[in-house]
Amino acid sequence: MSEIPGLVWYESGQSGLSGQLLDRHQAVDNLFLRLAAQWGAESVSFPPLISARELAKVAYFESFPQLFTAAAGLASDEENLRAFTSGKMLDDGALKLTSLAPVREILAPAACYPLYIANQNREMPERAIFTVRSNCFRREREYRPLQRQWAFTMREIVCIGSGSDVRDFLERTREILDRLFQKLSLDVKWEIATDPFFDPRNPQSLMQRVDPVKREMICDGLAIGSINYHRHHFGDAFSIRRGNESIESGCVAFGLERWLHVLISRHGTAYHRWPSFDTLGWPQ
Ligand code: AMP
Ligand code: ZN
Repeated sequence: MSEIPGLVWYESGQSGLSGQLLDRHQAVDNLFLRLAAQWGAESVSFPPLISARELAKVAYFESFPQLFTAAAGLASDEENLRAFTSGKMLDDGALKLTSLAPVREILAPAACYPLYIANQNREMPERAIFTVRSNCFRREREYRPLQRQWAFTMREIVCIGSGSDVRDFLERTREILDRLFQKLSLDVKWEIATDPFFDPRNPQSLMQRVDPVKREMICDGLAIGSINYHRHHFGDAFSIRRGNESIESGCVAFGLERWLHVLISRHGTAYHRWPSFDTLGWPQ
């Protein structure tokens, strides 16, 4: 793809957006906000750091050790700070860190985790639908502008309720999205996927293969979003209850930069020629 006006690429795997490109990024998010509004979703936001102790409850670290970004800082004792400042602080652009303070937080790897954590030990008798947007961080083998970034933006719509509430939410959302793909002239195929577990012998990884829970929206070989059915996984881990049972949950996640990428690949950067988002109208 030739250069995209308004895109500044950082080799560390991040992008800066401005002008019309930034407007389009927000316009794509607005599409998902309208979808969320159709479901009566409550908008929530969370800070960018997530507790390692909480994520450990869903076996995050044994599942995805390759992905996470630790929020690390120096141990604050004077001796350590002096050791750092009196040494060569940078070596070929990399910080030469001395002792670290205990690392208790990581940068959010997905938007929906804090939602289950926030509802920990609660009784949730009614179906609840939320929407949350977050800057997310994942270490990847290599990075490409808009397509694979260390820092990217994820919008999610999350349903918490009974199994049938969640399955109905995921199924109807999938149908609405199919019509959206058509209206945007995007060639999207749904593929059953497994998360990129570090160790394929991991019990969760095995479970995903016998009982697929993740379907991805694949466009130009790229997952632009996913539909995830967690069953009781988060309800059990965080003790979110509905009567005698733990709740089920499911989420629909969109990578906003990847949507920009596939829309630009399909329709170019003369944005006035894009299908109008205003007139899309969500099918009932
Ligand atoms: P996942 O939780 O893995 O299903 O991720 C949700 C969505 O986030 C994916 O479908 C992608 O659209 C997007 N995404 C995941 N990883 C990256 C990345 N490294 N760079 C850009 N977008 C990503
Ligand atoms: Zn999610």
